[in-house]
Amino acid sequence: MTAEGTTLVCPSCGGPTTTDEVSLAIWHNGRLVVIRDVPASVCTACGEQLYDQPTNDAILALTNAGFPRSKAWEEIVVQVYRLPPPKSAAGNAGAVSRNTVSS
Ligand SMILES: [Zn+2]
Repeated sequence: MTAEGTTLVCPSCGGPTTTDEVSLAIWHNGRLVVIRDVPASVCTACGEQLYDQPTNDAILALTNAGFPRSKAWEEIVVQVYRLPPPKSAAGNAGAVSRNTVSS
């Protein structure tokens, strides 16, 4: 398993991937944190993001450390929205499936 510039195949859809740097948004214990400039292989078909082992380990290490504030690169303000309340409260309509958003 050598990875000398070879592009991976997406395990989800089999599509081709390109290497890119992405931002991860992670909910951790009710707190939203962002990891910037994460090297990833991104599927051009479905948007799936794959990380190599060192990257995966680094993300895991940050997660296990609880994302210490002192290690934060910067802090940003995030806009938070809520959907309007449903018009009729009569009965629960079946769940509507929502495709995952890919950029
Ligand atoms: Zn894919």
